[in-house]
Order: sequence, then structure tokens, then C-alpha cells
Amino acid sequence: TVRTRFAPSPTGLLHIGNARAALFNFLYARHHGGKFLLRIEDTDRERSTQQAVDVLFDGLAWMGLTPDEQPVFQSTRQARHAEVAHHLLAQGLAYRCYCTPQELQQMREQAMAEGRPPRYNGYWRDRDPSEAPPGAPYTVRIRAPREGEATIPDLVQGEVRVANAEMDDMIILRADGTPVYQLAVVVDDHDMDITHVIRGDDHLTNSFRQAMIYRAMGWDLPAFAHLPLIHGPDGAKLSKRHGAQSVVEFREMGYLPEALNNYLLRLGWGHGDAEILSRDEQIQLFDLDGVGRSASRMDYAKLLHLNGVWLRQADDARLADDVAERLAGRPDVTLDDTVRARIQTLMPGLKDRAKTLVDLADSAAFLGRHVPLSFDAKAEKLLTPEARTMLGLLARDLAVIEPFDAPTIDAALRRFAEHHGHKLGQVAQPLRAAVTGSTTSPGIDATLAALGRDEVMARIGSVAQ
Ligand code: GLU
Repeated sequence: TVRTRFAPSPTGLLHIGNARAALFNFLYARHHGGKFLLRIEDTDRERSTQQAVDVLFDGLAWMGLTPDEQPVFQSTRQARHAEVAHHLLAQGLAYRCYCTPQELQQMREQAMAEGRPPRYNGYWRDRDPSEAPPGAPYTVRIRAPREGEATIPDLVQGEVRVANAEMDDMIILRADGTPVYQLAVVVDDHDMDITHVIRGDDHLTNSFRQAMIYRAMGWDLPAFAHLPLIHGPDGAKLSKRHGAQSVVEFREMGYLPEALNNYLLRLGWGHGDAEILSRDEQIQLFDLDGVGRSASRMDYAKLLHLNGVWLRQADDARLADDVAERLAGRPDVTLDDTVRARIQTLMPGLKDRAKTLVDLADSAAFLGRHVPLSFDAKAEKLLTPEARTMLGLLARDLAVIEPFDAPTIDAALRRFAEHHGHKLGQVAQPLRAAVTGSTTSPGIDATLAALGRDEVMARIGSVAQ
């Protein structure tokens, strides 16, 4: 059965390129009824703080990409990695290299001076270790094939080849006995029974190096799928200057995980012209043959658009909770149960106009304010003495209508406008200004209904003459 994995290094952020790799691994496993695993590549002990690891866990949980088994921490497996290196050594498939750092440096300089690539020249490959000074430190190098070529059948890139002459005898165990990254990845993927390695195509060269270890150990290669990277809108490598790059940033900017997932999926994977795909549809449709071969360009405007679409489909109670959380710290907003209920009641109207949860929270803030409201410049302008007088009259009608719901409010406003020879907007706009402090809100009837009669009367009362 299919077993995929996401193998991030804890760097302190979850980059969207990595998040996309995680998503593809997740979807591939689900599509094929397999398992999605997580391995934390935390061998760099300085960077791999608990906080950096938590960023990964939180980001994946938020994206809905939780692994099917307990995460594996690479750092706990060093003894096993070393064991494999020693096995290769015992088999003669790897050898001890006693070159000092100075000697290696000289080797590189000489190669470059002669116009050759700076590779290890195999000095100790066939030498007798007894030639080394007794007790001298050594690294363990794999005995790489020198003739022929290595091929990797890649599920995205097709068959990729490299001449073996281009690879040197890489170190698998350092002089201090610690395993190198390439060895750790192979041993872990093998021991975790990983069948498919789906990752960024910046790992393609690593795959050839890793394949050497698989072959030396006589282990089956997993299937590889190298995903083209995500570039900036201008085609250059995605960087800070293009905009947000990490999952946390998008979350803070008010994106829904569904929208980010949907966008990242569609970035570099297609199925006809299907654009908005639920998780179930994604699982049903996803396969690696839909992954394109060329780098994709980040399109922030498109992501924003998708976010609006997902917002409108999202559950009102959930959005209200998120909005409440975003409003919680604001000094001008009180968040009691009444205000929470108002937010949820008005949510259908609010979410219709918002592109992000940040917009949504901004547009809902008026529901949690108190009289006297502060008015923006446009609202202030609408609240002329005549308008204030009119609002005083209107308040008498609004005080008695039953029930105080949107249809009844709408009917009352129309009746009032007609009776006074106004257009509906001439009533609704000053009213909106009075109860929201601004000139934009969802429909005035729904807005008043969400505020409730007492609050509406108080707000009108504080401006009416
Ligand atoms: N730890 C590597 C990274 O974060 C990924 C290794 C892999 O997927 O094989 O780039």
C-alpha cells in the first residue's frame, strides 16, 4: 500500500512550497487508500527548537494535513543511520577516508585549477587503511559506481539520468561518527516503508545521491516525484519582496485554510478546468499525472479571489468565532455573548462583501461598539441636522414594529420613506451612518435586525434631534 511522507526541517516557518509538498503527499496517499506520514528532520540541533517544531505541527494542523502515524524525529535515529554506514563498510561497499580537511581543500583547488569539477578523487578508495597514521580520524565514503549512468524514473519529470562519472564517493558518516543528511533520509524512508517520495525538484540531485545508498544496501528505490518549485509572479525565485511566503503569514492575513489548500493544489496541478475543489473532490481527483513540469508562478490576486469564494461557502458560526477572535484585542470593541450573537446573525451579509477574515472582522467591528459611536468622515457628512430630525421620527416607528426582524424592518422603512416623500436610500443611508458609524454595511434591514431593537434605539437616540 502507498505510504508517503512529508519531511520538513524545522526552520521556524512552514513555507508554502513545503506546505504544497505536504498537501500533494497527503492527497496522493488518500487517493490511493494509503498513509501519510510526517518526519521531522531535526538533525540540526541548533535550529530545531521546540518552537520551530511547533510551527510545523500548528501549520499542518491548520491546513488539515495531520499525519496518520506518530511523527518520526530524525535526530532520534542516528544510531540506526550509523549502523547502516557500518554495514556498508563491512561489506566493502563503503570505505574509510583519512584525508584531512587541508588535503581535501588542496584536492578541490587542484581540480579547479585544472578546470575539473571539485570532486573527491577517490584517494582512499583502494588504499589500505594501514597506510593511515594510527588512530587518525576518518570519514566513511560510499563506493560510488564510476561507469555507466544512473537513472531515476520520476513520476513527474519522466526518466532522469546522470552519468555516474559525475558523482563522487560521498561521505555518509562524518569523522565524529554522525550520519550525513543523505544517509539519514534513505534509512528513514526505508525503515518507514515509504513507497513514494514526493518533494520539491530542488532535491533531484539529492535523489541521485540517495539512490546510490539504496542500491548499495540492495533496497528497492521508492517511486520519486519531484515537484516544480513555486516562483514569484515575475518568474524569479519566490522571496519576501513578492509577498507572504509562509503559512502563518497567510493565516494572519485572513486566509482560510481551504482557500490556501485549494490554491496551492491548483498551482501546478490541474484537472480540466475544475477550480474550486472540496477536500473530498481533491482526494478523488488527485494523481501525479496532473502535475505540470514547469515552475508555477504565485498569483496573489487569484488566491485572494479564491479566498472570497471559500469565505462565502464557509459556515457562519465558524466565521463568527474567527472574527470574534480577531476582534478580541480591540479596545473599541466589547465581545460579550450578545455581540457574538450579532456577528453570527449578520454573517451571511458580512461574508458576502469580504475577501479575507481581516476584512470580515473590520466590517463586523461596529456590532461590538457602544454609543456614542465614532463616525467616519462620510458618515459624519450624512448626519445633517435634517437627517437627525428624520431619524428621530423614524425611531418612533422602529420602536413599535413587531417582530423586529429584517422583513418587518424593511417594510417599515419603505412605508416611512413613502410617507415622507423620500427615496429609500435617503432614509437608509443616514440610518446606516447612525447605527454603524460608516456608510457601508450589509443590507440595512439585516443590519438593524442583527443589532436588535434596544441597541438600534440607543444608537439612533444618540444622534437624533
Ligand atoms: N528536509 C528536507 C527539506 O525540508 C526535505 C527532505 C525530503 O523531502 O526528502 O527540504
